[in-house]
Amino acid sequence: MRIIPLYPAYHEANCYIAVSTCGCRSACANECAVFDPGADAERIFNRAKNNGLEIKSIILTHAHFDHIMAVNELVALTGAEVYIHKGDLQALYEPSLNLSGLIGSSYTVNADVKVNALSDKDQVKVGGEYFTVISTPGHTPGSACFVCGDVMITGDTLFGSNIGRTDFPGGDISQMKESLRLLRDTEGDYTLYSGHGGETTLSRERQHNYYLFPQFLGK
Ligand SMILES: [Zn+2]
Repeated sequence: MRIIPLYPAYHEANCYIAVSTCGCRSACANECAVFDPGADAERIFNRAKNNGLEIKSIILTHAHFDHIMAVNELVALTGAEVYIHKGDLQALYEPSLNLSGLIGSSYTVNADVKVNALSDKDQVKVGGEYFTVISTPGHTPGSACFVCGDVMITGDTLFGSNIGRTDFPGGDISQMKESLRLLRDTEGDYTLYSGHGGETTLSRERQHNYYLFPQFLGK
């Protein structure tokens, strides 16, 4: 899987375009997915178009406003389907849960947008490859990471040298610790693309991120 990052200029979260590198020559070779379109639907759409890519799916790491606020517009441009862990489904339609009030908005995903609810270990097809869902509650009830090959999209669960907050509605520090232990103990190494900040690797975070240390996690 190839990841094209769209790092934002303002408050919104990182957005990623994921392109299958399976190498097949069928129609799916031009398909891509967009992770966390928080703003600027047109910029995301044009970035994909300029790469010869068609956006077939929008995958959300969780339902906070800074990760979802371009969903309606991007769906209108592309007809893409939305995928989100079932634990954050309600927040798409509830400003008090997606926190859009923090920026004076009351954003909700339109009722006619096709949304697919995901569970742990579900797979989402992108071109000729699949992302596997890892349920990682803590930042929100439905926070999830998405793994394909050595790529891991971590949302607001794990950042370079930091982790997501757990003091928002639905946040839970003990669930967060459980999720972080799960990620820390995942075998092998991954390039991590998180919701905020630059890319990093799991091995680097295991070594340098205090929030993955036994001192924080308890074991
Ligand atoms: Zn968040």
